[in-house]
Amino acid sequence: MLEFLLPQRCLCCGSTGASVCARCLSSLPRLEPPLCDRCGAPTAWPVRRCSECSGRRLAFESARAAVAYDENVRAIVAGWKEHGLRRLAAAAADVVVAAIPGPPVDALTFVPPDRERLLQRGHHPAERLAQELGKRWELPVLAALGRTRSGPRQRGSSLAERRRNVRGAFTARAAPGSICLVDDVYTSGATASAAASALRKAGASGVRVVTLARALRLG
Ligand SMILES: [Zn+2]
Ligand SMILES: [Zn+2]
Repeated sequence: MLEFLLPQRCLCCGSTGASVCARCLSSLPRLEPPLCDRCGAPTAWPVRRCSECSGRRLAFESARAAVAYDENVRAIVAGWKEHGLRRLAAAAADVVVAAIPGPPVDALTFVPPDRERLLQRGHHPAERLAQELGKRWELPVLAALGRTRSGPRQRGSSLAERRRNVRGAFTARAAPGSICLVDDVYTSGATASAAASALRKAGASGVRVVTLARALRLG
């Protein structure tokens, strides 16, 4: 079903034959209800807001992710991002579509690349994932967002720093109707919220967020 030519080893377990072997693909840590209605965090029972998102101003209506951002998913996303494993976008989209119903929106868009990183990598995982999801959900994909500046790298930053860094980092072209924003990983929600805020300012009536993976807070 999933036959990747390169590399010859599973990014998770190292077995030969595929970028992600069938066994690892089937044992990804899927996120299942109950979830926070707003931010998609797993919760003990269905809630409209959870301890992670209550009291925060989030510019999106809801966020959903297919899998938890554990060690294996981290390895897959790193391989996808850094090594440009193109076919992982299709596999990631299959994982998303299996977990998340098509959102009731007019179009998909994606968190835009940092110019520097786009030049380094020559590809943009979030855009590829959006394109693959657009095919599966039969929704148009708009390049609605741009970056106002090249922000500092988020990796290793504290939560407060991340939120500060991304505020005002995005601009949006006219975005009529409702939009689903696609990204590879939901970490603090700060990036998604800043991008959603730009889309709302550009006229979007509502923004939903869909990602492949979601970081989970401990405890
Ligand atoms: Zn494997
Ligand atoms: Zn929440």
